[in-house]
Amino acid sequence: MTAVDTSTAAYLDPRLSVDDRVADLLSRMTLPEKVGQMMQYDAREELEGIVLEHHAGSILHTSPEKVLRAAELTAQTRLRIPLLVADDCIHGHSFWEGATIFPTQLGMAATWDPDLVERVARATAAEVAATGIHWTFSPVLCIARDLRWGRIDETFGEDPFLIGELASAMVRGYQGGGLGDPDAILATAKHFAGYSETQGGRDASEADISRRKLRSWFLPPFERVAREGCRTFMLGYQSTDGVPITVNDWLLSDVLRGEWGYTGTLITDWDNVGRMVWEQHVQPDYAHAAAAAVKAGNDMVMSTPGFFPGALEAVERGLLDEADIDRSVSRILSLKFRFGLFENPRLPDPERIRAVIASRDHTALNLEVARRSLVLLRNDGTLPLNPEAGARRVAIVGPLADDAQTQLGDWAGSSGQVDWMPDGHPRAQITTVLDGLRGLAPADWSLEHVEGAGILDLTDDPAGTFPDGQPRPPIAVPREPDAAQIAEAVAAARRSDVVVAVVGDRIELVGEGRSTATLELVGGQRALLEALAATGTPLVVVLMASKPLVLPEAVRGAPLIWVANPGMEGGRAIAELLLGRIEPAGRLPISFARHAGQQPTYYNQIRGQHGDRYADLTQEPAFAFGEGLSYSTVAYRDAAIRTPRVGVDDAVRARITLSNTGKRPAHEVVQVYVRDRVTSVSWADRELKAYRSVDLAPGETRTIDLEVAAADCTIVDASGERIVERGAFDLLIGPSSREETLHAVGFEIG
Ligand code: BGC
Repeated sequence: MTAVDTSTAAYLDPRLSVDDRVADLLSRMTLPEKVGQMMQYDAREELEGIVLEHHAGSILHTSPEKVLRAAELTAQTRLRIPLLVADDCIHGHSFWEGATIFPTQLGMAATWDPDLVERVARATAAEVAATGIHWTFSPVLCIARDLRWGRIDETFGEDPFLIGELASAMVRGYQGGGLGDPDAILATAKHFAGYSETQGGRDASEADISRRKLRSWFLPPFERVAREGCRTFMLGYQSTDGVPITVNDWLLSDVLRGEWGYTGTLITDWDNVGRMVWEQHVQPDYAHAAAAAVKAGNDMVMSTPGFFPGALEAVERGLLDEADIDRSVSRILSLKFRFGLFENPRLPDPERIRAVIASRDHTALNLEVARRSLVLLRNDGTLPLNPEAGARRVAIVGPLADDAQTQLGDWAGSSGQVDWMPDGHPRAQITTVLDGLRGLAPADWSLEHVEGAGILDLTDDPAGTFPDGQPRPPIAVPREPDAAQIAEAVAAARRSDVVVAVVGDRIELVGEGRSTATLELVGGQRALLEALAATGTPLVVVLMASKPLVLPEAVRGAPLIWVANPGMEGGRAIAELLLGRIEPAGRLPISFARHAGQQPTYYNQIRGQHGDRYADLTQEPAFAFGEGLSYSTVAYRDAAIRTPRVGVDDAVRARITLSNTGKRPAHEVVQVYVRDRVTSVSWADRELKAYRSVDLAPGETRTIDLEVAAADCTIVDASGERIVERGAFDLLIGPSSREETLHAVGFEIG
């Protein structure tokens, strides 16, 4: 194959329009080169073959050394089409040793603060861009509904409105000033759409979900970021109504590209095309699968090596027109041209790496977001631990008090997706709860650390590898309570004035293919908490868990802080909160169950069922969406509607007065839910439509204005249309989604 004369080739001339450049380049490409452009290969494979023989368009999971090697190889190809380098940098630059690892997405969601989330994504983009990676597979817009699902931690929680607010902020942060911005990376809205509606919480199972249900809850956050210019969308693993999303013409063509006018790039999830053959058995072979995937409008095919021969065979057998492939390749090329990769392949920049990776500013931001992500769920006055009360003896107990890598959560360092960081991120960069308390507790306090319980052991899955040869994750075997360990913890508790128990889950219980059957604490942790509670020493529970878990009855009165995996600064933030150096500010982005059998427990359920409890248990969640305490108390009064009758184009305005009735500052998140009193079809009793954060000094009283657009007071009708049904509504204003905390004021849309 002859090399292209780079001095004359039109596609290399940046003065030409992107369309002209794409047309010129496409006209020079062979069919294998075109199919190769659609391929995203796992860069842990041998690079020479990927780039030189298979003409890869993109690679993912590229170790730092390999980014440069891949670029060298690209320069040896005939057309020198630059690679798009991608990775899952989902709460920081996950797999770059020593990068800033922020709280997980669920932790960020607990801040309810889009500005903060946007700043986190900006910082992440700067770190990622410096290292030669162009594209992150983030944010996740899945709605977390069944808490048994292993990927709850990757979501922004259970509410479509909050998800939309935070996802939009994250996309803005990643994509920065646009494709010309040297610190911009491509964002990905994933997993389109309905992937989280698993059956029994089982990862990637068939999503039993109607089009109306999709339009009601699952699609709105995606629609928002599609319209706001999120550059790429990733399709989930699920099938709906028997159709794998990869070939779901209705969702991809009619809705995404049609109704929403989306012109960005679509990428499959990992081997979605292959799975249609070897797992779902809905395509007889790779030629048919490749043809179906291309025809449905997929652009980039992630990690399906069989797509390359499959697509070539499909064209040869007449299953697919080359013109269909051209359509996808054009979209990929035009993204590369617009990104300026032909002029500047955005290779790693050592100077920039030194300046931005784990910079002082990013570390400060990380601490800020970790502080804001902590949710105080219960307090009996034990917290904050009071340094003025004289010398204190504190027992810090539990398997997660000093487990640095677990604190980072999934998609970070040693969490299992890449092989070049077996030991995770540098220990010295991570502050555990123990480190935090040691660093911040008054000098005359004595701190004693006891692990007290193990969580699990691992054993090989007897089923061997997956049919595609990938290893199955090992199976988690809960560790039996160890009497000696518990006795040691109990003795420490008896010697102490207070016990801080740090319990939760570990990476082996989190992530893809790692849904859990129960929501209970695993291993010896329950027995440990029960034994600690029985000592009578005041006990504070820090639940460091990737998702809402159920705590044993024995500690259901104990002060409780929930923290999702809080990132590198998490231990310091928790210590500050325990010691009262900061105020609690987080609010739950997701409801906590009392029992796994209550699933689902999300707040915005459809009205209408016989009763509101199980025969043997209430249906009330343990903690509801939106809840979170401060160290002070805030009273709400005088809720008033200012616009009792509005038209569909008007704003609904209300007012409420808040008073900080306690002795410490309070960060309050005032939430506004809408209830449509009578709907033509069944609908959620209340939905979050707005919220406002308010900081109140002790004793301060403030009246605040709240606003919701009448046009947002919608339902999705029986035919799947989102409409406003004129009539009577309530605005429900208060500190959480829980009915009894809300102040209702009526209004009418005429
Ligand atoms: C996950 C995606 C991820 C991709 C690449 C898949 O298994 O579902 O969320 O972006 O792998 O790592």
